[in-house]
Parts: sequence; structure tokens; C-alpha cells
Amino acid sequence: MQKYAVFGNPIAHSQSPFIHGLFAQQTGLQLSYEALLAPLDDFAGSLQVFFASGGCGANITVPFKEQAFALAGELSERARRAGAVNTLIKLKDGRIRGDNTDGAGLVSDLLQNGVTLAGQRILLLGAGGAARGVLEPLLAQQPAELAIANRTVKRAEQLAAEFADLGPVVACGFDWIDAPADLIINATSASLNDELPPLAPTLIKPGHTLCYDMMYGKDTTAFNRWAQLLEAAGTLDGLGMLVGQAAESFYLWTGLRPDTAPVLQALRDRLAGS
Ligand code: NDP
Repeated sequence: MQKYAVFGNPIAHSQSPFIHGLFAQQTGLQLSYEALLAPLDDFAGSLQVFFASGGCGANITVPFKEQAFALAGELSERARRAGAVNTLIKLKDGRIRGDNTDGAGLVSDLLQNGVTLAGQRILLLGAGGAARGVLEPLLAQQPAELAIANRTVKRAEQLAAEFADLGPVVACGFDWIDAPADLIINATSASLNDELPPLAPTLIKPGHTLCYDMMYGKDTTAFNRWAQLLEAAGTLDGLGMLVGQAAESFYLWTGLRPDTAPVLQALRDRLAGS
């Protein structure tokens, strides 16, 4: 039986054991996947015990993604760019490889929902860990422009400078922009408090602009409610990204690509019933 886990603190709310349990059922693989609470002051110790006792791979969530980045013996290019690791893989030679599948999860969810990214004007709200993690995979889709808007403009400028070699990326403050975007992705944590960044309503062209909130939950997020009120062409939440990043981790561990659609539906039903 192959052994996997997700590490975080807190971790009780994690949907990852449910998602990976369904992936295992679907692919017929015998594996265990647990949610493990790592102490804030000894994430490295917990990880060592896990891999020494036969762990094959792990997901890493808040607040340990940067520590996992520092602990990994080798890194994928996208993890190096993200500065954070959400997936660890034990290699045959015993070394631990760090990867970051968050951005791939977002892009695969967008593409599966029929969203075009190539040649589009994308507005990314936020310049924290989640925004950083999705920049490389988004730019790989060759948008016409990717603007990063953040409350603290300096952080957006720093990100834009770091990723400028990968495509047409610019930085701005929320009050600098009002021209409609084709796609707006909310990577701020404002929705966690049911808040909305101060955005011009003209950013949404009715019936055209698509909006994606990385946040998810039982209820429609503040950002998606705002977008619906302004008659955005569509709104999506981050549940598909969550399942997408898990599917990409599963692929890295097993070489198998699970079908995400039924798992996403099962997760939505589960959240609605909770
Ligand atoms: P961070 O704490 O690293 O960054 C938070 C960002 O939000 C910063 O840019 C911050 O701006 C901005 N922000 C916070 N509050 C406000 C506000 N009231 N108004 C405007 N901007 C605000 O968080 P993460 O990047 O890790 O996470 C961001 C979101 O993405 C969360 O909602 C998280 O749940 C979600 N997420 C979803 C995933 C999924 O799989 N669906 C995966 C990862 C994240 P400033 O720099 O000025 O402080």
C-alpha cells in the first residue's frame, strides 16, 4: 500500500483525503492518504518521520509551503519560480523533489471550463503566495497581457519584475485600472472575510468578462457576487483549482491522470451538505 499525506496547521478542514480517496478508487490503486497536523515549530521533523516510515509523497499546505521549498532536495522549475512547494515526491534514490501544482490546477480548471487564455487580457488581483504560484503557468498560455493589481503596489511590481522574462506582465494598484479585462482572477484573500478589493465596475464588460475567485465555499464569494451583479459572462470559484492541483500531484506520484469532473461534483455535493 502506497502511503501519502497532506501536512498543514490547521489541517482538519482539508478536503485532500476525500479527493485523493476518490482518485484512488477511480484508478484502482491501493493507497492511503491522511491529513497530518504538523507542529508549527517542527514541520521538518514531521516530514522526516513520514518519509522514514515509508511515505511516498506529500501535499503541503498553509503555512508550510515555503519551508517545504527550503527542505526539498531538488525543485521543479515551476516550484522554483513560485518560491513555494505544495507537492513532495520521494525519488527512487531517496531524495525528495519539490513541485508546485497550484498553477497547473488553475490553468487546467480554466481550460476545462472552455476559457481561452491565449491572446487574452488577464487581470490578476493579489500578489501573495497564490498569485506567485499561478504566474508561470498562466504566462505559458501566452496571454496578450497579464496585469497584476495589488493593494500594496510594491509587491505587484516585484512580482512583475521577477516574471517579466516569461511574458507581457505589468503591475498596478486597484485604482489605476478601469479598462475591461477578458478574464479577472481574484487571488487576494479578501473573500475570506467576505470583502472585495476596491475595483472599478468598468473592469467588467457585461456578457464578455469572465471572473474566477480562487476562494471557494458553500456560498458565492463576495467577488463573484460583485461580478454577477455587473453581468460578467460567467463566474467560477476555486474548487476546480483545488481538485486540479490534487490531480496534478496524483499524476506526479503515480503517472496516472484521474478524471476530475466526477470528483469535483462529489466535493461540491459534500460542501453543500456540510
Ligand atoms: P497571501 O496571504 O499570501 O496573500 C494575500 C493577498 O491578498 C495579498 O496580495 C494581499 O494584499 C491581498 N489582500 C488581503 N486582504 C485584502 C483586502 N481586504 N483587499 C484587497 N487585497 C487584500 O494569501 P494566498 O496568496 O496564499 O491566498 C490568497 C487566496 O487564494 C485565499 O483566498 C486562498 O484561499 C486562495 N487559494 C486557493 C487555492 C485553491 O486551490 N483554490 C490555492 C491557494 C490559495 P497585500 O499584499 O496588500 O497585503
